[in-house]
Amino acid sequence: MALPYASEALEPVISRETLGFHHGKHLAAYVNNLNGLLEGSGLENATLEEIVCKAQGGILNNAGQILNHELYFGQFGAPKADNQPVGLLAEAIVRDFGSFEAFKEEFQKKGATLFGSGWVWLSADKDGKLVITQEANAANPVQKGLKPLLTFDVWEHAYYLDYQNRRPDHLAALWQIVDWKVVGERF
Ligand code: MN
Repeated sequence: MALPYASEALEPVISRETLGFHHGKHLAAYVNNLNGLLEGSGLENATLEEIVCKAQGGILNNAGQILNHELYFGQFGAPKADNQPVGLLAEAIVRDFGSFEAFKEEFQKKGATLFGSGWVWLSADKDGKLVITQEANAANPVQKGLKPLLTFDVWEHAYYLDYQNRRPDHLAALWQIVDWKVVGERF
């Protein structure tokens, strides 16, 4: 996927340098790996969602990381002060977490306490109820029958150049660049 914004558009929350490595090197490597692994696998025409629900091993890991990063890079835009969800998703967040502030606090806490590499997700279950889950490594909520809406990447490659060991500071800053219109359309 091409980035839907310029490589400096998310500064100072995510630097051009981080985006260059993260999108241009890490995601590109997962795409190259998957293309090689899919040859002769019988999954050449499957969607990424189908692959992550069916495959194992290297195919699962690389497809999972591509799906995760497409959702991740696709949900951001230029920083905004007082950036808030709107519409039906905003109402569902208040219904299921009490307030937007309470939701952010729980989401950041689950991102900060995920041990090792992985992703924190906001998803909707089959009844439209919102849930926050921690997924290790390349896992995606679609494997649990959930619809993924928003994700923060807590692999160190996502923040180490800009924040070093300060993962909680990185997570707190990401709220400024969430494009809630895109996230709301996934709901
Ligand atoms: Mn990543």
